[in-house]
Amino acid sequence: MLLRSCSLLFAALFVLAHSQRQTVSLILTGGIVVTMDPSGRVVSPGAVAIDGRNIAAVDTPEAIASRYSSQTVIDTSGQVVMPGLINTHTHAPMVLYRGLADDLALMDWLQKYIFPAEAKTVTPDFVRAGTRLAALEMIESGTTTYADMYYFEEEIARVTRDAGLRGVLGQTIIQFPAPDAKTPKEGLARTEVFIQEFANDDLIVPAVAPHSMYTLDSGTLKAARSLADRTRVPVLIHLSETSDEMKTSAEAHQASPAAYLDGLGFWGPRTIAAHGVWLSPADMTILARHHVSVSHNPESNMKLASGAARVSDMQRSGLVVGLGTDGAASNNDLDMFEAMRQAAFLAKLQTNDPRAVPARKALEMATIDGARALGLENLIGSLEAGKRADAIVVSMTAARQTPMYDPLSHLVYVTRGDDVKTTIVNGRILMRDRKVTTLDETRVLADARALAEKVKAAVR
Ligand SMILES: [Zn+2]
Repeated sequence: MLLRSCSLLFAALFVLAHSQRQTVSLILTGGIVVTMDPSGRVVSPGAVAIDGRNIAAVDTPEAIASRYSSQTVIDTSGQVVMPGLINTHTHAPMVLYRGLADDLALMDWLQKYIFPAEAKTVTPDFVRAGTRLAALEMIESGTTTYADMYYFEEEIARVTRDAGLRGVLGQTIIQFPAPDAKTPKEGLARTEVFIQEFANDDLIVPAVAPHSMYTLDSGTLKAARSLADRTRVPVLIHLSETSDEMKTSAEAHQASPAAYLDGLGFWGPRTIAAHGVWLSPADMTILARHHVSVSHNPESNMKLASGAARVSDMQRSGLVVGLGTDGAASNNDLDMFEAMRQAAFLAKLQTNDPRAVPARKALEMATIDGARALGLENLIGSLEAGKRADAIVVSMTAARQTPMYDPLSHLVYVTRGDDVKTTIVNGRILMRDRKVTTLDETRVLADARALAEKVKAAVR
């Protein structure tokens, strides 16, 4: 009888304890949680409780189980749980030009292939199909936020939002007639409409993207800056990508591109300069003074032989440096794991110092530094209570990942995008066990193949 009372008491206590647990929407438990928080905490084994769009807590599996319950619990044993990767520079629809023309210098590649192909093929339909394909690849390879510069950016934003990804999306402004605007003035006007449409979106941050100092005149560059200031949105621009650009700037303005833009009053916070391959120490000082961030694109810079950006020098100058893939036509993929690895390797080669961009720094560049570069560090870039639940689950059981002494080393030096099992953005599962839930993969691939016929005809 006594025994029975005791067990009833225990059962009552158990029910009481568990009824006090907070119900959350999703729990990831049992994996190695690489938080990328300021203390660099790795919880192994760890668990993450997600409530709606936010992270409720990161702790041990026992601690999470004692405080939270959920109808959806994903066992992440043997896998790494980490913040989703942040691609700070791409042109999403250009996946449709992947492999169209390779092994060319930037100006040849742009002028003989990309600009003519774009003039004949870029339509809202093309941009939507390309963005769906890019979104599929990004979700499959663990990118949860990306910064984009292209045409018909409102279409890109709609597709991105439907796919469930987060984006800082910049409407491109360029001096010559573009597929979506005959003049820069028209481009600026459609940018303003785009900004208004997405001003308060949960996933999309609209931005102004003047293409570069060599494709725009001073009046348009200034107008782009003032539009961004007036509407309080970020600015995305290409900067000091090639030696040609440096030469053009020196001849036309007797200044480096960074100094020329400084003279126009162009620089300001929440500005991301892509590439920065040829930045001098003086240029780095200018950018740091204005809190401009840099997007480093090691694979594109190597493929187009643009040069090796001085990433360590930039970081020492106080610049925040995020990582990017650039468009898939010059990479040729959107895999941020590969971008991390190449960023680490290129920095070592460039400085003759194997300590340059160590694994942890490469991971920071693809997560929290990317978030800082985009001005979103309060929301994303690390797994911390209160931040948005943008997380990925990465398998660590492949032959090339066995054995594992240090998860950070493996994430940078042997892991591939294909190792990502689950992708979560804003608390929503976009891919689970490699099955993307927000896009119809068969249709996305069929649409891309159909459009490739038009692209082929355009450059014939
Ligand atoms: Zn680019």
